[in-house]
Amino acid sequence: MMKQQTLSRIYTFEGVGLHSGRHVRISLCPAPEGTGIVFRRLDLRGAEVKADAANFHKGARSTGLKSGKAEARTVEHLLSAFAGLGVDNAVVEMEGAEIPILDGSAKPFAEAIVADGLVEQEAEREVITVREPFEYRDDRRGSYLRIEPASATSYQVKIDFNSKVLGVQEACFDGSGYPDGIAPSRTFCFKREIRWLRLLGLIKGGSLDNALVIDEPVGYLGSKPIFENECARHKLLDLMGDFLLAGKPIVGRITAFKPGHTFNVTALKSFLETENQ
Ligand SMILES: [Zn+2]
Repeated sequence: MMKQQTLSRIYTFEGVGLHSGRHVRISLCPAPEGTGIVFRRLDLRGAEVKADAANFHKGARSTGLKSGKAEARTVEHLLSAFAGLGVDNAVVEMEGAEIPILDGSAKPFAEAIVADGLVEQEAEREVITVREPFEYRDDRRGSYLRIEPASATSYQVKIDFNSKVLGVQEACFDGSGYPDGIAPSRTFCFKREIRWLRLLGLIKGGSLDNALVIDEPVGYLGSKPIFENECARHKLLDLMGDFLLAGKPIVGRITAFKPGHTFNVTALKSFLETENQ
């Protein structure tokens, strides 16, 4: 059995939120055993919302959490870094509603935390052991997600946007190499979507500095991918962040085709319901 882990010090980040475009500062703080990941809104007298599927608040193109007044938006990349590095307990103090997008990946979070290492705590880490194969499908979007028994946690993601630039991409993660292999992969969107996303009041903080932009069928506007399958790796990064909302690590083989935030969390909730029966 593994012990629970927390951060070894406080880390502060600041920058714009991808969707709100607002400048925000956050601090990642160590927390006692059994805390889980909690977002604390300093600008709302310390109102808190826990990273838990029950608090999922549907947001377009991002994962949000809400409990009472406390809201935390675009939490997925930070949660992914916690999941990928094995951080069980942390309090994220926020001076606004949205986590800064930084470079569009989880690298700034992962790099900082890895540099200091984690602190092992006294209590054992609780996990969810998958007993039976589970499958969730959304035929309208052509997506599926499977969770199967295995001795360790692994993720495999396949994407198909019917894109000449991206092609069909796959990425996998077997529990090691998160900081170099998964964390640096950046969020992405298609140039043709930008006008529509802006009309919806989204991506106000989006720029070529924090996203890969695909100009179909020509190539990439701005920066080029650092991995040939960077977009699949990013979808895997997102899925790991969304699955942290299970509250405990899931020990099993997780496979997803065409994942997305709302789809991921809906599938996870359905899995947790069958687990708890
Ligand atoms: Zn993402």
